[in-house]
Amino acid sequence: MTNPEVRIGVFVCDCGSNIAGTVDTEALRAYAEELPGVVAAIRNKYTCADPGQQEIQTAIREHNLNRVVVASCSPTTYEVIFRNCIAGAGLNPYLLEMANIREHCSWVTTGNGKAATEKAKRIVKVAAARARWLIPQEEEQISVTDAALVIGGGVAGIQAALDLADSGHQVYLVEQNPSIGGIMAQLDKVYPDIECSI
Ligand code: SF4
Repeated sequence: MTNPEVRIGVFVCDCGSNIAGTVDTEALRAYAEELPGVVAAIRNKYTCADPGQQEIQTAIREHNLNRVVVASCSPTTYEVIFRNCIAGAGLNPYLLEMANIREHCSWVTTGNGKAATEKAKRIVKVAAARARWLIPQEEEQISVTDAALVIGGGVAGIQAALDLADSGHQVYLVEQNPSIGGIMAQLDKVYPDIECSI
């Protein structure tokens, strides 16, 4: 069931020719505008740049948006920036959904603009559908015990325990056998020194 109060804004990024060189971004924008819950669909040349972010904030205020979909690049690149951007316009930062139409579409569908545009439409359609179900989230800080439990005293476990200890953390290394070393401890000669591994 769709929340009837959802008001989604979709922002389609050209990324210069990175996306617009393959995907018909204007056709994509027009398509997005007709999706359920979408009340504004806007195309930007570079959405992550200051003018692009300002356009998002202006649209949030003008259209009273309560969800934002940015159709651009991978969320690993700019999701935090866009979260901060919508928070700057008064929206909860988690009411953002990103549609990756660059790494997942234009960059891997070069030479076939029609197919790329159709794929981009599907990616944006899914993102807009998901955006309808986003709920505000609050971040809270909780205290943690500064200690680590490493299970298994083989070579990997020993190394992990040493690295954690060198980083200043209390470490508890748990091994089910009477001694640590795992399979490594059973070898009597180890390359390149041809010496006992213990
Ligand atoms: S938001 Fe991503 S896709 Fe858009 S211009 Fe910036 S880097 Fe390019």
